[in-house]
Formats: sequence, structure tokens, C-alpha cells
Amino acid sequence: MKITKVEAMYLRLPEVKEQCDSGQDALVVRVETDAGISGLGEVDSAPLAVKAAIDGPYSHTITSGLAHLVLGEDPFETEKIWHKMYNANIYSGRRGIAIHAMSGIDMALWDIKGKALGMPVWKLLGGGFHSRIRCYASSLFGDTPEETGELARRFRDRGFNAVKFGWHPMGEDERTDIALVREARRGLGDDADLLIDAGLVWDAKTALQRANAFAEQRIFWLEEPLRADDYEGYRKLTESTSVRIAAGEEESNRLSYLDLMDRGRVDVVQVDLTRCGGFTEAMKIASLAQDRGLPVANHGFTTYINVMAALHWLNSIPNALICEFVAEEETNLREQLTKQKLRAKDGYLEIPQAPGLGIELEEEAIRRYRVA
Ligand code: MG
Repeated sequence: MKITKVEAMYLRLPEVKEQCDSGQDALVVRVETDAGISGLGEVDSAPLAVKAAIDGPYSHTITSGLAHLVLGEDPFETEKIWHKMYNANIYSGRRGIAIHAMSGIDMALWDIKGKALGMPVWKLLGGGFHSRIRCYASSLFGDTPEETGELARRFRDRGFNAVKFGWHPMGEDERTDIALVREARRGLGDDADLLIDAGLVWDAKTALQRANAFAEQRIFWLEEPLRADDYEGYRKLTESTSVRIAAGEEESNRLSYLDLMDRGRVDVVQVDLTRCGGFTEAMKIASLAQDRGLPVANHGFTTYINVMAALHWLNSIPNALICEFVAEEETNLREQLTKQKLRAKDGYLEIPQAPGLGIELEEEAIRRYRVA
């Protein structure tokens, strides 16, 4: 089998508001083969920069568009293709955009392999640890502590027993920070897990004070309290609190995860399959974490392609902790983009059993929303 086409498709709603809404646009990668089998991937990054990294021309030995490199290759050779893409972009992306773009291609290749063999991706990865995976409903905070409490109650009513709130207005002042967590706990009740995503707002000492205060509300983890590059701050923080500290969504490729684990000493390693280097790299990151006694979780705030990829990966490693799931069923791009609409049941997501990723595009959505 040979790869015949690599397409980076940018989809965007006609009106995109300046808000932290993950359902307004998407960069989807489609890889086609001469066997008539195609695969899907996704990249959550700067969409047109990713498209340029894929569509761009060959420039010289260590800078090349990715599509140029993979055309004509056998999609089963994912490890070889990963290194071919990496080595041919030493100038333009040992971290960041090029690794993000590689993730979308790698994901699509695993989808093709699964479809060709009639097996779900997790089976090719050697998985089979679970039949379903516990998920948490992932949400932004309400504008006020009281609104946050109300949101928590609604997720509880929908059957979730783990809920995460994140970002604004966390970080504005101590009193608001503490009230947000207190009201979230009140809305959730005592018998559910509460996860807090601070959103990169503090220095290490402030984060330690907040972690100690939030411990009274028995939070499951405190995510990204510090700037992504503050590995020394992460180390000081994790050594000083019993609250689990989670981070990782800003990292790309296993070497940057080594910094987070060995310098930053975080307690939970978060991996976004659409940015870390795809399945090929995510398996290695999970292994590095396992060797250090660390659990991992996915990061995913975009489409159901990302969630499906995460379920295959989490089902293929021994140290999966929990699955992030954006549980908003609005008529945004996420709900329209794919034929499969994922739903949690009693706080769990079923492991997909169809060949490949098990997710297909709704072609009408591509026609309607594709802008590049
Ligand atoms: Mg986060």
C-alpha cells in the first residue's frame, strides 16, 4: 500500500468569537492510499501554520513540507515515517508546529492500518486494558463562583462523577480563587471528583498557597498552575504539596515531556494526541511516565476525532488515569463534523471497537465549513 495524498483541511464556523470555545474551528488531516483506504487525523494548534507545515515544499535536507516526505511511503511503516518527518524538519520543528503537524499525519496512518486490518487502533497498539474508561466533564469556570456551582450541579445531574473547571476567572485574586473551588465542590456534592485547571496564572509560591487552600475541598488534581516553562517552579510545588499537580498539554514530543517529568516532577502527565507527535510518540511518553510511576491522562478540547484517538491510546497503556471529555452538546462544529457523536454514560466512555479510529467525517460539514 502506498500513500497517494495528504490533505490538511481547515474548517471554521462563519463567526468565531474571541472566547475559549473549542468547537469553533478545526484542522483535520486526511491521508489517502492507492488501496482506496483513507485515514483521519486532527491537529489542535495554529491551523494555517500546521497546513503550511504539511503542504509546504521541500526546501533542503532538514526543512521540508511533510506531505512531500510521506507521499509514496507505506502507511504501515509508522515508526520509519515518524523519524523521516522528524529528521527532515530539524530546523523548522524539533518542538512545536512541525511536531503538531506530524501528529495529525501519524494519527491518520494508524487509522489506515486499523482499517486495512479490520481492527481498532488499540488492538494494533497491543492494548485491551479496558472496556470503558472513566471520563471527566471538562468545562470552563462560570463567570462567578455561584455560576460555577450551578454548572457543577448540571454535570452531576447528567451522570458525571468527575468534573473539571478551568481558566478565567481563576487567578484574579485569592478570595475569588477560593470561592470558585468552594462553590464547585458545593455544586458537585461530596461524592464526586473535582479537578481544577488554573490556566498558567501563578508563581510557585502562590500556587502552593492555593494548592493548600484547595486541598480542603479534596481536589483530584490541580492542573497547570504555573507558566509552561517554569519547570523549576513545578518541582518546588510538587515537592511541597500533597495535591496532585497535572501538566503537559503545552509539550510536544517525548523529550519535552522528559523535562516536565524529570525537572518539573509533575504527578500526572497530560498528553494531547493531536500535538504530542501522534500515537507513535504518545506510546513512548506513556512508557516514560510508567517507568517513573506516573499516571497519564489525555488532553483534548477539540473534536471527537481527538477523543476517539485518546480512547484508543488510554486503552493501550497500563497507566491511564482518566479521560478528558468536553461534554457540551451544542450545535457547534464538533457536533456537526463527524458522523459519530460521543456521549458518556454514567461518567464513562465506551472503548471504540470499529476498525481504525472508528470515526468518519460528515462530508456535508466539510463542504459547508472548509475555508482552506
Ligand atoms: Mg488544561
